[in-house]
Amino acid sequence: MPGFELFGNAERKEVNDVLDNGVLMRYGFDGMRNGHWKSKELEATLQQTLKSKHVQLVSSGTAAVTVALAVAGVGAGDEVIIPAFTFVASFEAILALGAIPVLVDIDDTLTLDPKAVEKAITSKTKAVMVVQMCGSMGDMDALQKICNKHSLLLIEDACQAIGGTYKGKPLGSIGDLGCFSFDFVKTITCGEGGAVITNNEAYYINADHYSDHGHDHIGNDRGAETHPFLGYNFRISELHAAVGLAQVKRLPDFLAIQKRNYTILREALSAIPEVTFRTVPDGGEESYAFLNFFLPSLEIAQKVSKGFKEQGVDGCFHYFDNNWHYIRKWDHLKELKSLYPISEEIKKNLENLTTKDFSQSDHFIGRNLSCLIKLSWTEDEVKQRAEKMVSVIKQSNI
Ligand SMILES: *Cc1c(COP(=O)(O)O)cnc(C)c1O
Repeated sequence: MPGFELFGNAERKEVNDVLDNGVLMRYGFDGMRNGHWKSKELEATLQQTLKSKHVQLVSSGTAAVTVALAVAGVGAGDEVIIPAFTFVASFEAILALGAIPVLVDIDDTLTLDPKAVEKAITSKTKAVMVVQMCGSMGDMDALQKICNKHSLLLIEDACQAIGGTYKGKPLGSIGDLGCFSFDFVKTITCGEGGAVITNNEAYYINADHYSDHGHDHIGNDRGAETHPFLGYNFRISELHAAVGLAQVKRLPDFLAIQKRNYTILREALSAIPEVTFRTVPDGGEESYAFLNFFLPSLEIAQKVSKGFKEQGVDGCFHYFDNNWHYIRKWDHLKELKSLYPISEEIKKNLENLTTKDFSQSDHFIGRNLSCLIKLSWTEDEVKQRAEKMVSVIKQSNI
């Protein structure tokens, strides 16, 4: 997945354009910029790539999720349904707005189980956030149907799945709003950065203003601009956008490399009958940023994970035992360890997280290994890796 592996002259050239004129900010200073508008150019390129009417760049993927929720009016007391397997940014963004994260079970797509979503809907539910984890996606038709039926927003966190598609549509472009991250380890990197995409003009205008302190961006005197509503600073810098602009032009090449490497590994593992793969919904195509597979039991998954580490097969995560992505190890969330007071309403609603039954998610995450697909591997290296993986799995008593 990581675009940083192939950082090179194209990225340096775009950054140098910005350094040559010294305008590091995305707005204003028209006369000094020598025609360089890297953020605007990156937004235009992403519009094409993601087949979306509007793109607003922001400072991170976490900012993108926050902005997406805010511009659609999600705030104090609103419930947002998210999967129990996700990145911490999902609940961080929801809590930052005073809204309530409602964590529900995943299924074998490794994201929201539509049945669990439907069960979790209450009169306070405002949005469903599907997190397209590890290069693939949820059952978008089923989720869209539920959202339509209950008049809920569907927000797509596609931070880990740029380049994946569902029924011909880029992931991120299907829901009311889509979110992307361009942090250092994502498929396209800016160093730090993110984007919100939408076909809804009102949400876009909100995002344009909200991510820049509520500025209306009318005219070219920032001091004279009005603030139609409260905002925040989630701006990206021109330097970061410049890196992303070079990277996004290389996305087709990155995806082709991912697919080649993924396919070699998948074919090798397919020869082991006990290995099964995550379900990709009908009409979906992964971005091939990760290869996710299931082993027959938690114990075998733990053994294989250990074996991979001993044999130097790096970049394979057993999220069951990992602090990053799964409810099981998020004690800071369960105990609401906050530096500042949290509303009684949120406290009350999160109380049940310590006792809530996530055994369905445990069943999938416990048996899953998620292997990062790198861009810098040669074909020979991938083949050697595949052999090692097969031999470790076969030695793990299955
Ligand atoms: C990386 C990531 C984010 C947050 O992006 P940052 O740019 O690191 O803030 C959000 N959601 C998911 C699923 C991610 O993988």
